[in-house]
Amino acid sequence: MAEPILSIEGVHTYYGKIEALKGVDVVVNRGEIVTLIGSNGAGKTTLLMTVCGDPRARQGRVIFEGRDITAMPTDQIVRLGIAHSPEGRRIFGRMSVFENLQMGALTADPKHFDEDIRKVYDLFPRLKERRDQRGGTLSGGEQQMLAIGRALMSRPRLLLLDEPSLGLAPLVVRQIFAAIKEVNEREGMTIFLVEQNAFHALKLAHRAYVLLTGQVALSGSGAELLANPEIRAAYLEGG
Ligand code: ATP
Repeated sequence: MAEPILSIEGVHTYYGKIEALKGVDVVVNRGEIVTLIGSNGAGKTTLLMTVCGDPRARQGRVIFEGRDITAMPTDQIVRLGIAHSPEGRRIFGRMSVFENLQMGALTADPKHFDEDIRKVYDLFPRLKERRDQRGGTLSGGEQQMLAIGRALMSRPRLLLLDEPSLGLAPLVVRQIFAAIKEVNEREGMTIFLVEQNAFHALKLAHRAYVLLTGQVALSGSGAELLANPEIRAAYLEGG
């Protein structure tokens, strides 16, 4: 039986007078990979950020594990078990790989640290090799691995990933998506993935939503949307 871990219900989010989200409904069930695809400016990043409470939904509700988190401060939302790997990665450039991972673990029980960092290094052996290297000197792909690893160090029950494939070469994109799949299958991690790379995202996701100018235009299984001619024409051209 599908058990919703995150329910976004009729959410409207504004930047000043600009209505970026116009009544969005999305459900993520425990154990799923759900992807949100859509073109530039559709509101994908805004939706992930609204889940984290910044910006806050002006109408509608965000429910996580049965609790209404719509009005909660962001740090409290994170402590409840949501980790966000933001667009552009935002790792700490002057800190080492290891220190970046330590930062991710700040809200977690220290007794899990050794086990958790081992899991991250198993997932991304490159991070282990580069554990003492400064974050800012890593390649784009390595920085993305670090951003995901840092999010995992907080032991989330819901992982939000914003465009992990952005600006990466095809081979690295495949590695990142393989790692996302592995975390989901091995740990049962629930993942809400925002992507412009619709082809990879739909192949990976159990279910998907298409966001079009602040509204959900279509939803279905990843396979259904991959096979949908309109989706193919709009988002998979050349994919
Ligand atoms: P991209 O893939 O380009 O990041 P997106 O689907 O994630 O696109 P958002 O970044 O969520 O889209 O933007 C949705 C809309 O809100 C856009 O019209 C954008 O210009 C606007 N917007 C985003 N951030 C702000 C902001 N801080 N202030 C004002 N408008 C914003």
